[in-house]
Parts: sequence; C-alpha cells; structure tokens
Amino acid sequence: MLITNGTVLTFGADKRVISNGAVYYEDDTIVAVGTTVDLRQQYPEAEVLDAAGKIVMPGMVCAHTHFYGGFARGMAIPGEPPENFMQILERLWWKIDRALTLEDSKYSALVALVDAIRHGTTTLIDHHASPSHIAGSLDALAEAATQSGLRVGLCYEVTDRNGPEGAQAGIAENVRFLQRLRDQPDPKLGASFGLHAAFTVSDETLAACVEAAQGLDTGFHIHVAEDRADEDHSLKTYGVRVGKRLEQQGILGPKTLIAHAIHVSETEMEIFRTAGVKISHQPRSNMNNAVGVAEVEHLLDKGITVGLGNDGFSNNMFTEIHTAYLLHRVHQGDPRVLPGDRLMEMAFDHNATIAGLFFSKPVGALAPGAFADIILLDYVPYTPLTEGNYPWQLVFGMDGSHVSHTICGGQLLMKDRRLLTLDEPAIAARALELAPQIWRRVAEM
Ligand SMILES: [Zn+2]
Repeated sequence: MLITNGTVLTFGADKRVISNGAVYYEDDTIVAVGTTVDLRQQYPEAEVLDAAGKIVMPGMVCAHTHFYGGFARGMAIPGEPPENFMQILERLWWKIDRALTLEDSKYSALVALVDAIRHGTTTLIDHHASPSHIAGSLDALAEAATQSGLRVGLCYEVTDRNGPEGAQAGIAENVRFLQRLRDQPDPKLGASFGLHAAFTVSDETLAACVEAAQGLDTGFHIHVAEDRADEDHSLKTYGVRVGKRLEQQGILGPKTLIAHAIHVSETEMEIFRTAGVKISHQPRSNMNNAVGVAEVEHLLDKGITVGLGNDGFSNNMFTEIHTAYLLHRVHQGDPRVLPGDRLMEMAFDHNATIAGLFFSKPVGALAPGAFADIILLDYVPYTPLTEGNYPWQLVFGMDGSHVSHTICGGQLLMKDRRLLTLDEPAIAARALELAPQIWRRVAEM
C-alpha cells in the first residue's frame, strides 16, 4: 500500500516533516518513506491511499492502561467520597475489579479499543485485574485485541489482597499467557509479568513471581510510589523504600516497566537508572487522584526512559500530551519546563522503547522496518508546519478528534472515521447491558 499526498511527520530517529509525502508498506511493515513523486516512481504498481493533504504520522502508543476500569465511567462510588488514594482503591477500583466476569473484562477492552482506534492509538500496554475470574482473563482481553486489530501488551496484576489463592492464580495467569505467546507468537500481542504494587505484595509472593518468571524472558509491570502511602508502607514494614526493596527482590531490570514513580527519592531514581528500568508517566490520572507530580524532567535528565500512559483515562493520547505539557508548567511555576520537543520524545521515542519490551519491530516512527502503524489526521495548519515547530503544532493544535484513518500492522481499522473491525453500536449495546449488573455487584460488596 502506498499512502500519497500527505504531510508526513516521521518521528523516530530521523525526525522529518515531508510536504507532499508518501509512505509505502508491505504486509505489516513500512518499506519506504519519502516524497509522493519519488515513491510513485519506485512503486508504480502499488495500491494507493490518497491522503489528500492530511497529516500522516505514526500511531500513538499508550505505555500503561487499565481496560478493566472502563465500567467505572458514570458509576456512583458507594459510601462517602474517598478522601485519599488508598480510599479510592478500596472504595472504587478494588470493588469494580472484583465484580468483573470474563465477559465484562472482554467488553471493558472492546470499549477501550473502539476509543483507541477512533483517536489513533495503535499500541496499548494494559495492566489487568479481575480477581473473581483470573484464569483465562488475559485470553479474554487478547480476543478483544485480536478482534480490534490493534497492538496490545498484556499482564495480570499479582497481589496478596485476595489471599494466597488469588496471588497464586495471578502468577499462573501470567505464566500461562507468557507461555502461550512464546509457543504461538503474534506480532500484535505482547506479554509481561504483572504485579499490582509493592504495598500489596509480600516478599514471599515477590519471590514466587521471580521464580515463576524464570526462563520466560520477561520483565515485570508494576505500580511504584503512585502515592506516598506506598513508600510509607515500605519503610514501616520492610525498613527500606520501595525502589530498594524491589531491587533486593530481583524485580528490577531493563525489561521492567514501572508506572508513576511519583514519590521516589534520588537514591531510588539512581537504582532505576542503574537497573535500566522503564517508567511510565500518567498526568491525567495523577491529577485526578491528587497523588502528586512525578519529577519527569529530572528522570529524563538522568537518561531514564520515561514514556506516557493513560492509566485507564480516555485513549486519546493527544489529550495526555496536552495535559502533561500544562501540568509541569503550573506545578513548577516555570513556563520553560518539559518543552514540546522533549514531550514528543517521551510520547514517541520513549514509548517506542517501552513497546519494544513487548513487540518484535519498532513502533512510534514512520521508518523502513517499523510496523506499519499509521494514522491520518484532518489537521489543516494555518501557520507554517516545520521540522522546528511540529511538536508545538501537536501540543496546541492537533488532537485525536482529527484522526480520520487508523492503520495497525498494515491493516486498515478505520477509514474516513468508519470503524472496519469493531461494531461500535453492538459493543456499546452489550456493555450497556453489562454495566448495571457490575454496578449492582459493586453496590452489594
Ligand atoms: Zn495504573
């Protein structure tokens, strides 16, 4: 397929803006990126998709999300409004996850994936919990992912909060799914070993996870210091901070992805840097939970990979970028912090590095050899769009609502805003039948 007549924003190592640009891909992989004139000459027989002046850019990556939270939308939290993060977990998330059946889990993924296709997010790294139905839950999500045609990395969050059987079942689900993908690799499915957070996993359970992960060529995906309570708990219970404890337990390494890292100390940051750990930043979620602001620029200055996730918020990663841009300015009282180009490095280069833990070819860039994960946007710049300013055009002008076409691995998932793989009305209708049942089970807990 040859996409022609677009303004191509390549991102990736060789960041270019190509006027009247084109992208040529075969099967699921990009072969060439250049001008329309050149690529038409090189590939005269190719089937053509005329971008007609649209922006052509790589699909967005979400480095950390929770499909399972989908049914929380609009649900009244039983009891008094939560006062802090621990109460939010206890009164909302630890009830709604317990209420999910396998079908609920699948539909929570489907509604998220509809949203992702609509807003041009082609790779998502999920962190799943459904403690009443653990076995097979990652297959239920994988089924939704495969139906959608998007690229999805999965894990099950191991925790002790549902007793030793719950922890064992979580370990077994991670192992089973990692083995499944080892035996039957799928370019659009990835896996990691999920852990909830340090404060809900004992040393014994961490040791069991490390042992179970042996030989599976995987890292861990875990929440770290999202709230100060995580650090307080670690210091009180184990006498060390979270980062130190996870290092001692063998959880950290270059394949491990940690979410948030808000309340970590300088020493913990050094531990993460030395271990090559990847971090995901979720500004909308952090603001919503009032848990604080991660020292993103400081982490980046240390050379740590810091990507961007949505933590279950809408799958419009443009909005996450816009939010990150604003949050760090107001937080530090300095309009120079986290400039647009640095933010693009997080959302594209660093997210691509994180996706690389799960998938076999590069994403987040239009370059030969990368997966053909491509989006087209109806964005008409009214000031010059250049290699020097495209990050700020994205921050101040471009949005997921401009996305008209979504392509993942060469497969067209949305054309002229029409979804081709998922039946949105049917998915919404079934979700609408499931939601009141989930809410009732939550109310009865
Ligand atoms: Zn999370």
